Amino acid sequence: MNNKKLISEIRGLGKLHNVKVIFFNEDRDCAGHIDTGSDKYIYIWKKYLYSRHSIVSTFFHELGHIHCIRTNRWRAYHLNYKDMKNEITIEEFYKKNLYTGLKAERWVDKWAKNMVNKYDRNIKYIDGYKSEVNINWFRNTTTNTIKKLLNNLKK
Ligand SMILES: [Zn+2]
Repeated sequence: MNNKKLISEIRGLGKLHNVKVIFFNEDRDCAGHIDTGSDKYIYIWKKYLYSRHSIVSTFFHELGHIHCIRTNRWRAYHLNYKDMKNEITIEEFYKKNLYTGLKAERWVDKWAKNMVNKYDRNIKYIDGYKSEVNINWFRNTTTNTIKKLLNNLKK
């Protein structure tokens, strides 16, 4: 399958789930992402168009995050503090984010795998957070960023 067909397949899936898919070229150090606190866009790195398995997996993984926003799951990990400022302090917000981040990612993987199976049994879902490389990446990026933010509060 060529890239054009894959792109239109993924855009169609986006439409079906009420989200706009934007493909980007430059390296953002992740296969895909969404905007914190927004269920409108999914961004996917074009590099992942190398196979249908990888691009469909990436789409459904990001859709899992959108699903979390729409169903109020793992809120500290998916929302901005301003959305939760009436409920918890900024310190509690960062701590919650820190302790639930990887759990949320694994929950999203499980959800996405199930969705991929329903969508097309021939596609093998590629887990985002099973390999040590990916887990370390998460610790070195997301976890470290939150830790720094937490430390800055104490200064
Ligand atoms: Zn994720």
